[in-house]
Amino acid sequence: MREGTSKINLTLDALFKRPDGYHELEMVMTTVDLFDRIDLYQTNKSITLESSSGLVPQDERNLAFRAAALLKEKTGCDKGVHIYIDKRIPVAAGLAGGSSDAAATLRGCNRLWGLGLSDAELAEIGAEIGSDVPFCVYSNTALAQGRGEVLTALPAPPTCWVVLAKPNHGVSTADVFGKLRVHAITDHPQTSRMIEAVKKRDYEGIIRHLGNVLEPVTMDMHEDVRQLKERMLRFGADGVLMSGSGPTVFALVKQESRAVRMVNSLRGFCQQVFAVRMLGVRRESVLDDVRTK
Ligand code: ATP
Repeated sequence: MREGTSKINLTLDALFKRPDGYHELEMVMTTVDLFDRIDLYQTNKSITLESSSGLVPQDERNLAFRAAALLKEKTGCDKGVHIYIDKRIPVAAGLAGGSSDAAATLRGCNRLWGLGLSDAELAEIGAEIGSDVPFCVYSNTALAQGRGEVLTALPAPPTCWVVLAKPNHGVSTADVFGKLRVHAITDHPQTSRMIEAVKKRDYEGIIRHLGNVLEPVTMDMHEDVRQLKERMLRFGADGVLMSGSGPTVFALVKQESRAVRMVNSLRGFCQQVFAVRMLGVRRESVLDDVRTK
């Protein structure tokens, strides 16, 4: 069993638009204790996939399927795998759910097929699937640059409660970036200050320097994201930010009782609300039982 862990952005900045059409990004990313469970079963040659969720493709379009296929192609491995994804991370939410399934599949198949690749090699392969996949291979805390694939490891932030709330619709990352006008950004996050705060385990500093340049773009497309943020602040969050391109908004709080109260108050507003712990480091698989089918 493998876990695909969701990420949150403590910062997300876009510096400029590159000639290849991508934005040059600078992001401080970390992980929270909300994950998909992924079971891998060795088969003869083929790759097959099933998921508990009807919201994700159950064929070669699934990022986990693509990860297994790419790993086979790169290594010339002639084994197969059946992938079962128990989906818990909200889909199209800004939490890198698909990327983390792909990363967990890369790590799991590497082991299942006895390939002996390093995390760095898996991350390099993962970058061909999506910009967030390398981060998800390590699942630690990092500064991500480039398209998100150039990583510098950071220590875990101080632990706290993270309340995640996803409005009842998804958001397309491509649409949000398509509407971003880099030259018009007036409020860039202070990434170096956030890095300093994370390194010092300075909770107040982290709260002060939360920032995401995509937040106003998504909020202009979906008013409920703005309302959600306002509500969370009113309900006593220490800090609130939209993750990635959204629409999930997360609140940081120290006290469990406040996190629970916030979850209860938000339930009427959106269906997917969770209170989880900040992780910041990879949660090694509890069970590594790779079964043969
Ligand atoms: P990011 O934060 O990296 O932009 P996200 O959380 O916004 O990601 P995902 O949940 O990864 O978005 O899903 C984006 C799209 O990818 C969905 O439309 C979904 O159909 C497709 N997809 C393919 N494979 C998966 C998967 N294993 N889990 C979730 N979505 C997947």
